[in-house]
Amino acid sequence: MTPILRTVADLRALARGWKAKGETIGVVPTMGALHEGHLSLARRARKECDRVITTIFVNPKQFNNPDDLKKYPRSEDADARLLATVPVDVIFAPPVDQVYPDGFITTVSMAGVAQPLEGHMRPGHFDGVATVVTKLFGMSLADRGYFGQKDWQQLQVVLRLVRDLNVPVEVVGCETIREADGLAMSSRNIRLTAAGRAKAPVLYAAITAAATDIRSGHADRMAIREAAETMRKAGFERVEYIELRDAETLMPSDDPRRPRRMLAAAWIDGVRLIDNIPV
Ligand code: AMP
Repeated sequence: MTPILRTVADLRALARGWKAKGETIGVVPTMGALHEGHLSLARRARKECDRVITTIFVNPKQFNNPDDLKKYPRSEDADARLLATVPVDVIFAPPVDQVYPDGFITTVSMAGVAQPLEGHMRPGHFDGVATVVTKLFGMSLADRGYFGQKDWQQLQVVLRLVRDLNVPVEVVGCETIREADGLAMSSRNIRLTAAGRAKAPVLYAAITAAATDIRSGHADRMAIREAAETMRKAGFERVEYIELRDAETLMPSDDPRRPRRMLAAAWIDGVRLIDNIPV
């Protein structure tokens, strides 16, 4: 079985030993309830680094909704079994007080790319992400950090963060892994009822259709409105946003010469789903 470390001191000691031998360290930060998406990140790290650490930490600072935090799925034993198939060298699964001990007062606060979309809908979320990612990189002596494009805005936040703070970590963005019907894999998908699960792929189908229309010359606004309509008709309770943005800054963009990304968030069955695709 993969060893599980609980303290920062143990993780640091292990990482220092690896570094002393000149080994490179890849870190895959997760919140657990692992699926193929997470494992694809770990496998990529396995290929590119001498040592791989997967962190499992449900970070309270990135939850703006206490109910979401309480309901967040946890399955450490199953996670450890999955990670043993990669395999990773070690799992770091600290208790909250290891990461945020008494007296903790520092926050990595980001403007710009952290503000719109998820940043707007979930106030404080990206400051929580930026803070914990900075800490995990520091604790693990990471050379590379692996992140999924599934959370596109988060990936842009982390890329900006390491540039701005001169964090010596190469951030690697990995493709979104999907179910056969197109639904992006997510730890939250297990909260869907059978009926919700059946309708959920419409999110990806609708934004894919909109992106195709836009590429073939349809007006952005019209294509997006149709996608939202399709989702509502399919039974989504609420479409929070469907936006076409500059892929890097996440600012509104009608410049087709720049890489653009369509990003969406919507509720089905009381579960909030997000997805994004290149346009
Ligand atoms: P989470 O446990 O949801 O915080 O996700 C941990 C990491 O896995 C993040 O970098 C996510 O972007 C990534 N991830 C989650 N779902 C997927 C997926 N379906 N495909 C690729 N990466 C993913």
